Amino acid sequence: MCEFLFWLALYVAAVWEVSLHLLELRHLGKMQKGLFPFPGLPQAMPSFGNLDNSIAYARNRVKLSLGETLTNYILCVAIAAYGVPDRISQLIGNVVNSQGLIAGLSGLVLCFLFWSCNLPWAWLRTFRVERKYGFNLTTKMTFARDKLIGLILLTSVSFASLFYFALIFRYPLWPLYLMLTLFLFEFIIMLVVPVIILPLFFKLQPLMDEDLAFKIRGLLDKLGIRNFNIYVADASRRTLHGNAFIAGMGKVKRIVLFDTLLSRLKADEVCAVLAHELGHWKLRHIGKRLVLLWAVQATLILCAYLMWSFGFVQALHIQSPQAFAVYVFVFLNAFMTLAFQPLILHVSRKHELEADRFAAESLDRESVIQALSKISSDNLSWLPSSKIYAMWYSTHPSILERITILNQ
Ligand SMILES: [Zn+2]
Repeated sequence: MCEFLFWLALYVAAVWEVSLHLLELRHLGKMQKGLFPFPGLPQAMPSFGNLDNSIAYARNRVKLSLGETLTNYILCVAIAAYGVPDRISQLIGNVVNSQGLIAGLSGLVLCFLFWSCNLPWAWLRTFRVERKYGFNLTTKMTFARDKLIGLILLTSVSFASLFYFALIFRYPLWPLYLMLTLFLFEFIIMLVVPVIILPLFFKLQPLMDEDLAFKIRGLLDKLGIRNFNIYVADASRRTLHGNAFIAGMGKVKRIVLFDTLLSRLKADEVCAVLAHELGHWKLRHIGKRLVLLWAVQATLILCAYLMWSFGFVQALHIQSPQAFAVYVFVFLNAFMTLAFQPLILHVSRKHELEADRFAAESLDRESVIQALSKISSDNLSWLPSSKIYAMWYSTHPSILERITILNQ
């Protein structure tokens, strides 16, 4: 029964995700033929000339995502079908004695496997698709450096996770230890990302534009927000896409503006983008998302505990704690995709609309609309996805929806 459920979840999730991608390609194909499921879209676009480019760019991105999704499912099926985690552990066990080390090194090898199979897709995204549409500024050297740093971070986390799991698995209260450790880990990550991880990828410098800094300080004062340091990230070494975000907590709160954003938007529009980000802060979206994530995680860990209690280990012939962790991860990942992804993304899209409203109320609505349409037009990201695809993959509502709601 457990084995049947495992393969069923994996199969249904894979078929569902592939179907969603194919539906999205059909949706984009219809628009290419001039059939617009959203009335008023072509007229609403700021530059009608980039419609064909936007459609072609969106199609390429969906195809890449489909390639990555398929690669990961094929890997998961192969790993589970051939009992790869236990085979790797046995090989490592021939040279290493400690259970913790065997588990950690198995995690490292599996992580490397996923990383290397996904590398060609990352290469295609950067040097084919992004370059074709004029967004890519990454050199091969920077790409290699970024991927290497990513690999070191990911393998370190995989090593530590399975090492730790092998240690706690011998105690009956392991689900509780796992839950508490994950909560702590995510909390630490929020503190560490702006101070340690971000500078690995971007050079962060204080904002030098005095006029803009003055306007931003005015906005912060108006909103009663203190203790934020404003930085400019040299994103233009990699891409032309513009962005801004807020990271950290306590005394290490940072507003990060991409230099690509500053070069394209007027000061009022930059302030509008910032007001949106500050909206997330003021409305406590980061904390709410963390609580939601914890709730989902707690449910998933409870599922893992039930699987352990109801013979999952015996049914799938699992021989080690690390193999159990990998199988459970694969199963729960499929379960999460089917059951929780739409819920999490629904909350995310709701928060985006709330932050837009906050920005429009804090500044003026026109600047917010202007900034939104300029960024999305520059990024070729104007096209609304089909409703069902957006439910599973869109973190933000479409620009059309955001502007329509702001105009109401
Ligand atoms: Zn946002």
